[in-house]
Amino acid sequence: TRTSVVTGAASGIGKATKQLLEQRGERVIGADIRDAEVVADLSEPAGRAALVEEVRRLSGGSIDAVYAVAGLSTATVATVAVNFSGTVATLEGLRPLLLGSPAPRAVLVSSMAALMPSDEELVALLTAGDEQAALARAEILAKEPATTGRLIYASTKLALSRWVRRHASTSQWAGEGIPLNAVAPGVISTPMTADLIATDEGRVGLLKAVPMPLNGIAEPVVVAQALAWLGSVENTHLCGQIVYVDGGSDVVLRGDSV
Ligand code: NAD
Repeated sequence: TRTSVVTGAASGIGKATKQLLEQRGERVIGADIRDAEVVADLSEPAGRAALVEEVRRLSGGSIDAVYAVAGLSTATVATVAVNFSGTVATLEGLRPLLLGSPAPRAVLVSSMAALMPSDEELVALLTAGDEQAALARAEILAKEPATTGRLIYASTKLALSRWVRRHASTSQWAGEGIPLNAVAPGVISTPMTADLIATDEGRVGLLKAVPMPLNGIAEPVVVAQALAWLGSVENTHLCGQIVYVDGGSDVVLRGDSV
């Protein structure tokens, strides 16, 4: 049986992914800040190190797939620490444990928000791997939650999508036989979006920004199914892709640019 690690396993897309993999007979080590086999705060270096150590202990030193799903969407500094730095630390920290697998896989969750306006400086600092400077920049952006604060989430997701593009073909990932990919969801019905989509007004406003002509707002299992395939034995050659599971918002917003 394959052993997978899912972060963000306590809720939403991570929870659905864990359940789906378990239904398929896999062993899943769930990680989250609460209600998980591995309780770790991925916004902090200590929590990221604890994740790796606990997974090493629980797995006996070898895992087959990593699904980095944990994330926040608030206009806060913590969103930078969890979404970008926590996700990269999860993948880089657990990568050594993948090397013993006959079919190692790695997937992270970005967002269609990567296509939305972002803060160039924050994206550049994240891309450069300067977490301290990125957190300082986010602190400035967070002071105006309704304007510059809104750029924080999109910036973390754009930086994550770019991180996948920059690393997937390298000796650490493709060179070790590990497909590295991302899923970019549109609007998914989870606790993260619950308040926004609870009212007609909120839902209409959100779907104006994130048009989903194909089947509208999705359930978390829809994203879980795409993640599970990217992390499965079947995926031998899909590499460095940002797979939009977004009801068509990417094609609406970007048209025929590929
Ligand atoms: P969710 O809030 O239901 O789940 C997120 C999980 O991440 C929670 O269980 C939470 O405890 C965990 N988490 C938050 N901070 C953490 C920390 N410091 N350490 C460890 N775990 C932490 O939200 P969701 O919608 O399932 O989101 C999952 C992922 O999907 C996120 O990366 C999110 O950005 C992305 N996403 C969601 C949507 C959407 O519409 N829901 C759209 C695009 C992308």
